[in-house]
Amino acid sequence: MTEAKTFNYVADHIPKTVACNRRPANVMNASTITIHNTGNPTSTARNERAWLTNPSNTRTASYHIVIDEREVIECLPLNENAWHSGDGSGATSGNRTSIGVEICESGNYAKTLDSAATLVAAMLKERGWGVDRLRRHYDWSAKICPRLMYDGGKWTGWAAFKAAVAAKMIPNKEADDLAKLMSAADANKIIAYLSASYMAAQDSASRAEFKRLADELRRVSGQKT
Ligand SMILES: [Zn+2]
Repeated sequence: MTEAKTFNYVADHIPKTVACNRRPANVMNASTITIHNTGNPTSTARNERAWLTNPSNTRTASYHIVIDEREVIECLPLNENAWHSGDGSGATSGNRTSIGVEICESGNYAKTLDSAATLVAAMLKERGWGVDRLRRHYDWSAKICPRLMYDGGKWTGWAAFKAAVAAKMIPNKEADDLAKLMSAADANKIIAYLSASYMAAQDSASRAEFKRLADELRRVSGQKT
């Protein structure tokens, strides 16, 4: 995945034999991404992943991705469902349609939150989605989660997170647009080839067309025409 360039992205899937049906392996064609906080001020991504296969864990709860200040761990394939949204197993439930991302509360939370925004922006971009595809755990089952974005009921932290994700998607778009442009050096090489045809052309219409093409090449390579 592209986000591996930004931070360490580890796929460490829990086995299908894991207890309490935590990996039911139902095929999922996700349509949204759901954001959570772990609700644990001290657990790391490794701790949260380990908890899913801890013999003392008796809960039917799981999540696709957990992120902390240093890494991202994918605990379940993103095309299988997890039990993270607390709204049952219906076809349109969050549990059956949404990728669950758990944001750790431990360590440097500002750094974790920034990494989470980078990760989620890359995931949305990869799927051709906008921030309208983001959900809170709260949206599915009214649980106060992600709790650190709740702000005493105003959810300003949630609005800020979505804005941070959106902001990370804009520079990428600009970079993509710039990458589509031609370098001045390449444009001038092509113009040099064109000029041979220009010199050979006998009629004014052909000459006008070569001139138009040369100007177009100068324009897309940021040169004056
Ligand atoms: Zn949650």
